Amino acid sequence: MSVPVVNAARRLADALLRPNAETVDVKGVPRTYRPPLAGAGLFGVTAPEAYGGSDQPLPVMREIVEILAGADASTWFVWTQHHTPVRTLVRGSNDALRDLWLPKLTGGAALAGVAFTHLRRPGEPAVRATRTDNGWRFDGDLAWLTSWRFADVFLVGAVAGDQIVWALLPLAKLSGVFAEPLELIAMRGTYTVSVHLDEVPATDADVVLIEPLDEWRATDAERTADVSPAVFGVTAECVRRLGDSDAAARLTAELDDVRQRAYGLQDAAGDRAERIAVRAEAHALALRASAALVAAGAGRSMLVANSAQRLAREALFLLVQGQDADVRAAQLNVLSAPAG
Ligand SMILES: Cc1cc2nc3c(=O)[nH]c(=O)nc-3n(C[C@H](O)[C@H](O)[C@H](O)COP(=O)(O)OP(=O)(O)OC[C@H]3O[C@@H](n4cnc5c(N)ncnc54)[C@H](O)[C@@H]3O)c2cc1C
Repeated sequence: MSVPVVNAARRLADALLRPNAETVDVKGVPRTYRPPLAGAGLFGVTAPEAYGGSDQPLPVMREIVEILAGADASTWFVWTQHHTPVRTLVRGSNDALRDLWLPKLTGGAALAGVAFTHLRRPGEPAVRATRTDNGWRFDGDLAWLTSWRFADVFLVGAVAGDQIVWALLPLAKLSGVFAEPLELIAMRGTYTVSVHLDEVPATDADVVLIEPLDEWRATDAERTADVSPAVFGVTAECVRRLGDSDAAARLTAELDDVRQRAYGLQDAAGDRAERIAVRAEAHALALRASAALVAAGAGRSMLVANSAQRLAREALFLLVQGQDADVRAAQLNVLSAPAG
C-alpha cells in the first residue's frame, strides 16, 4: 500500500532526520524542522479534512510513527506530543477554540505540547483547577513537559473535584509559570522540563474540554496497555544497522512476530493483561536489539557521535514513556526473567 504521507515521512526520515539524529540528540530539534514536517503533511495526520488535516487510519499512523521514531526519536517525540492537543480540540466542546487553533496546528503554523502524566497518579492531584469569576486558576506541578519554548501552546490537564479541566495555554508567556530544566540521559533533544504553576489563569475561552477524571483514566489505562509503534521503529532501526547478519535475521523474525501480535491484540481490543505482557516483550526486544548494535560496534559504540549508544538510550526511554503501574510490573517481570 502506497500512502502519500507515509512516503513523504520516509523521504524526510532518510534525507533529513536520520543523518542528523546524533546532532539533534545533543543540540535539540531545530526550528528549521518545522517547515519540512509541515510540508510532508505530518502535523495534520490526526485532524479532520475540514480543518486541513488528513485524518489517517491507525495502520498508517503506526507506519509513520515507526518511520519517524526509528530515524530520530527526539523529533518523533516532539511531533507526537502535538497530536494529543489536536485530538482533544477535535473531541472538545469549545468550537471557537477549535476554529482558532486547529487550522494553525494542522498546517504547522503553530506547534503544541501536552502535560497529562500527572493525572495518572493516584492520591492528591498534582495540579488543581480552582473556579474563578471568568474561568479557572491552575496550581501545582507538571512533572514532565516536552517542547518547552519550542511549542507555541500546551494542553494542560488540571483536576477540579472529580473532573479534569483541559486548557490550551501559551505557558511560556504566562505569569506564574516556572520551568525547571532537566538533565536527561536520553531524549535531550526534546526540550523537556518540569513546570511549577502558581495561580496560572485559564479563562473559559481557553478551556478545550471538561471531562470526568475516572473516564479519562479508564481510557488512558487502555491506551498505555498497548506498545507504542515507536518501540518497533527503534528496534527496526537497530536491526537495519546490524546489516546482513545472523543476529539481524533472528531479531527480524522476533520483531515481525511481536509486532504482529501487538497490533493484532490492539485491533481486536484484546485482554488488557495480555496486551501489557506483549508491550513488555516488545520493550525487552528493543533493549536487546539496541544492546546487540552496541556490541556489534565495539568500543566506538561509546562515542557520543555513534548512533548505537543513542538508540540504546532511546530504547531505555521508551520503557518509561507512557508507563503506568501495571505496565511497570509487567516490564519488571519480563526483564527479571533468566535469559533463554
Ligand atoms: C524525556 C521525557 C519526556 C516526557 N514528556 C512528557 C510530556 O511532554 N508530557 C507528559 O504528560 N508526560 C511526559 N513524560 C512522562 C512519561 O510519559 C512518564 O515518564 C510516564 O508516564 C511514567 O510516569 P512517571 O515518570 O511520572 O512515573 P511515576 O510517578 O512513578 O508513575 C508511574 C505510574 O505508577 C503509578 N503510581 C505512581 N504513584 C503511585 C502510587 N503512589 N500508588 C500507586 N500507583 C502509583 C501511576 O499509575 C503512574 O502512572 C515524559 C517523560 C520523559 C522521561
